[in-house]
Amino acid sequence: MAGILIIAEHRQGQFRPVTLEAVAAAEKLQASSGESIAVAVIAPQPAVFVPWVSVSAVDEVVTVTTPNAEFDPDVTGTAVKALIAARKPSVVLMPHSVDSFGVAPAIAAELGVGFATDVFDLRYDGGELVATRAAYKEKVFVEIDFPGKETVLLTIRSNAFKPAGGTGQPAVTEISVPGIEPRTEHLGWQEPPASGGIDIPGAEFIMSVGRGVGDEANIEQFVELAEALGATLGCSRPIADNGWLPKARQVGQSGKLAANCKLYIAMGISGAVQHQWGMKHVENIIAVNKDADASIFTVAKYGVVGDMFEIAEELKAQAGGN
Ligand SMILES: Cc1cc2nc3c(=O)[nH]c(=O)nc-3n(C[C@H](O)[C@H](O)[C@H](O)COP(=O)(O)OP(=O)(O)OC[C@H]3O[C@@H](n4cnc5c(N)ncnc54)[C@H](O)[C@@H]3O)c2cc1C
Repeated sequence: MAGILIIAEHRQGQFRPVTLEAVAAAEKLQASSGESIAVAVIAPQPAVFVPWVSVSAVDEVVTVTTPNAEFDPDVTGTAVKALIAARKPSVVLMPHSVDSFGVAPAIAAELGVGFATDVFDLRYDGGELVATRAAYKEKVFVEIDFPGKETVLLTIRSNAFKPAGGTGQPAVTEISVPGIEPRTEHLGWQEPPASGGIDIPGAEFIMSVGRGVGDEANIEQFVELAEALGATLGCSRPIADNGWLPKARQVGQSGKLAANCKLYIAMGISGAVQHQWGMKHVENIIAVNKDADASIFTVAKYGVVGDMFEIAEELKAQAGGN
């Protein structure tokens, strides 16, 4: 038996929509291979999640009932290995997440299947699976093939594929996997740090500062400028990591998504992909950077090659702050 098998994710009793992004990745393969798509739901009450994964591309939902409520790498690992042994899928897709970090490499090593993580594109090339991921801090894209591997396990980067949609009526198959026992005890969830009223996802106008600001002592003038302009102040990760601004202001992959932003000013930000993740969709991006080759200019609508401090002075004067 072949086909594409997706491992659904859930956390704190909630379905994780990244699963549908993995379904979309499978659909892309299916368009050229015609393979069937099955989604495995490994959960204490898997039936709860079946409607969530019953999108039009899915042919079958396979349920495995587990004794534990929250993710446990041994339980998921045992279940996934049993499913691979029983079904021999050509491709297994898992969301690239803290859960898959804990289990996917071990499964791949134990079974000797092909493996790549953080994959953001995939295709069949002459019948051979090719997965694309980044390397060297996103500076190069690497295409990986898996010669001689009957099964390939890939973890799929979030936001790389538009979630699959539509309503389907997949067959539902219950599978019993013997010997699935958790070896860890889930003690509880830690609340994320309070945002202190900072609302990057809700803000319509964001002005973010990056490492071009140079020194903590220079932050204050951008706090004042944001206030004068009526913008919410955001920042790149190094600024938050240095503790110069609260983490709640960080825009990007490991920060916040500027979900409702209509105008984004990036000051002294190079435009790394992880930062772009949080803002490149914004329709009006203005970038200020003294390096004309900075990547931020590839997503900006308007670019100013110049010194952020000079531009800040001018903006403050225009806003009536001087
Ligand atoms: C797993 C992972 C997750 C990450 N998540 C995030 C994230 O959520 N958000 C995020 O931002 N980053 C994230 N990063 C880090 C990211 O890769 C970059 O390192 C970071 O975005 C760089 O921040 P920066 O642009 O402020 O700094 P730099 O890359 O150092 O860029 C500074 C820029 O300022 C310009 N500059 C310097 N002086 C001036 C001046 N006087 N006037 C104008 N321009 C000037 C320079 O030309 C340069 O382009 C993540 C990285 C990893 C590996």
